[in-house]
Amino acid sequence: MSSIYFFGECLIELRALQGNLLEQSYAGDIYNSAVYMKRAFPKLPVHIITTVGTDAFSNEMTDRFTDEHLSTELVFRSRQKIPGLYHIQTDVTGERTFNYWRGDSAARQTMDFFTDVHLHQFKHKDVFFFSGISLAILPEEKRDEFWHRLKKLNDRGITIVFDPNYRKTLWSSKDDALTQTEKAFTYADIALPGVDDLATLLDLHTSKQVSDFCQRFDLAELIIKNGPQSVVTVCNGATATHKITPVNNVVDTTSAGDAFNGVYLGARLSGKDIDNAVQAAAAAAATVIQHPGAIIPRTLFLNALQG
Ligand code: ADP
Repeated sequence: MSSIYFFGECLIELRALQGNLLEQSYAGDIYNSAVYMKRAFPKLPVHIITTVGTDAFSNEMTDRFTDEHLSTELVFRSRQKIPGLYHIQTDVTGERTFNYWRGDSAARQTMDFFTDVHLHQFKHKDVFFFSGISLAILPEEKRDEFWHRLKKLNDRGITIVFDPNYRKTLWSSKDDALTQTEKAFTYADIALPGVDDLATLLDLHTSKQVSDFCQRFDLAELIIKNGPQSVVTVCNGATATHKITPVNNVVDTTSAGDAFNGVYLGARLSGKDIDNAVQAAAAAAATVIQHPGAIIPRTLFLNALQG
């Protein structure tokens, strides 16, 4: 059975409640995808590749990884750094505003720890997932090493999966984000872009424009998310449009795309065809956006998937 490795950052999440109250949790795009994949497909071996500190938050964060049955042998510990933090505020329509304190986070050091030695545990047909956020937080001087390691994985038959997830404030310039994102697409076997992200980064506003843009890359599978509009997939030259049933009661759209990614990939790794994988992923995302927080309670999630 294939193992899947999610490379990137998990942060401390602070969510504004009523008055001055804040609720504290843990979240981050790759972590969210890993959690929802593992919950929906418990038999799949799901690994996190990141760095945390040695502080109490880091301990609680890694406990959370373990509680969610994620494999942590590639979760490294920095003696100097602590996890990044973000604050999220949601308006009445469910749209989100984020503030980040992650410029000096432990996760930025992951390439100091994740070396060629660790590549030996990857097997043919395992999956390596990274996002535009995983890329944006890499120190510039570590990028070559990252690409080098990705090439080695690719050469050994590991499937590379990329979601561009563009966060403007994490990049020094738009040009830099563009160059790195295009490079990521050239390594990817599977890409799961959201139209929203590529609208801001590449001025691509429709699924068709995103699909035309992606033709220049050698993608085995392309899955384009476009909120409640539709999901468009391109595989072996065949384009399909999958209808999405809009949710009326949107509470918080945080991690909709992450839940979609985790469940879609889990379904594909479990042998489902593209259409069934999209349906499962869309159902998971629709559930997540009807509840506050990036990670909704396990029973709520599982009950909705079974129902
Ligand atoms: P992201 O969260 O990365 O910006 P999208 O907004 O495209 O990505 O959402 C990801 C997925 O979540 C969509 O493909 C869709 O399945 C689901 N989704 C998002 N918004 C809605 C909605 N209003 N109603 C139903 N499903 C939605």
